[in-house]
Amino acid sequence: MDAQTKLTFAIEEHGNPVPASERAERIADPGFGRVFTDHMAMVRWSKDKGWHDAKITARRPIEMDPASSVLHYAQEIFEGMKAYRLADGATALFRPEENARRFNRSATRMAMPELPEQLFLESIEKLVSIDREWIPTAEGGALYIRPFMFASEVFLGVRPAHEYLYLVIASSVGAYFKGGAKAISIWVSEDYTRAAPGGTGAAKCGGNYAASLVAQAQAIENGCDQVVFLDAAEHRWVEELGGMNLFFVMEDGSMVTPPLKGTILPGITRESILALARDEGIAVREEEYAIDQWRADAESGRLRETFACGTAAVVTPVGTVRSSKGDFTIGAGGTGQLTQRLRDRLVGIQRGEQADPHGWVKRL
Ligand code: PMP
Repeated sequence: MDAQTKLTFAIEEHGNPVPASERAERIADPGFGRVFTDHMAMVRWSKDKGWHDAKITARRPIEMDPASSVLHYAQEIFEGMKAYRLADGATALFRPEENARRFNRSATRMAMPELPEQLFLESIEKLVSIDREWIPTAEGGALYIRPFMFASEVFLGVRPAHEYLYLVIASSVGAYFKGGAKAISIWVSEDYTRAAPGGTGAAKCGGNYAASLVAQAQAIENGCDQVVFLDAAEHRWVEELGGMNLFFVMEDGSMVTPPLKGTILPGITRESILALARDEGIAVREEEYAIDQWRADAESGRLRETFACGTAAVVTPVGTVRSSKGDFTIGAGGTGQLTQRLRDRLVGIQRGEQADPHGWVKRL
């Protein structure tokens, strides 16, 4: 074992945590991404020392020099995952090693150092364990965990930084879309694309999200919940939403989802849905699906359901699609049968209420 793999987290407990009664108030109806726990995890990397100085410590502001390289050239990546309270009261994570792997693929794409998988997993397990009381008890509640890494070197030259900071914060969250699994409406962006071939679409880097915000704002202006992006080259193929992958359910019971060709994010929920569908004997094709075909199939009835999936919203039905060419409705505009079944199955596994044949749930 080298020094890197022996690194472990020092625990510095918060001297003045939020009192239990106030915490209960804050997590009663937390919404998304505003209520934070008492602690954070932190590890530093430098070109000389590699990974060092790993600790769980009180969550607090971090001091940054105005010349910190991330503020200029956006060398930053992140992950998003949830910790749940299981039916029997235990705390669990869902496929955290998949997030560790994706984090490192993002790091490689952004010319950042990889974090040993064991350090990633330990940072999350230790943080969730120390802050487990922050998991809301209400239905749909969870601890949303946000690991991230950025270039902290004080230097204005354009090159991969020589210093990075890896942090993990956690946030008590309720159901992502108010109204739970109600169907959402989506806006087809014709003015903007999210990711080009050879670009960063498959990496979870902050820049992808910065670039998507103006398209998301147009979605809202047009009365929709979310934006859907088309491919950058032909503006023809449906790719994904700003923060979720898409599945299409056909009248013959088969499913289609856009393939992973470097321009969409390889969602862990997407991969899990693929596995669950195949377990049920459903034919699933990872293949391109054109926006015009989507409209034609919805209108002819060949397409029965469409749903979006991701950590935050799990599985969410898409009811209507709007673009400059007009609206179309999918099925009856509500929640389709297969959408509901796959959602129930996935949530059931995540919450420890159903069998977990793939061993996805990691109890802490
Ligand atoms: N696509 C994008 C662009 C995302 O940000 C996310 C959320 N991470 C997803 C898809 C879904 O990924 P996951 O199922 O791993 O949350």
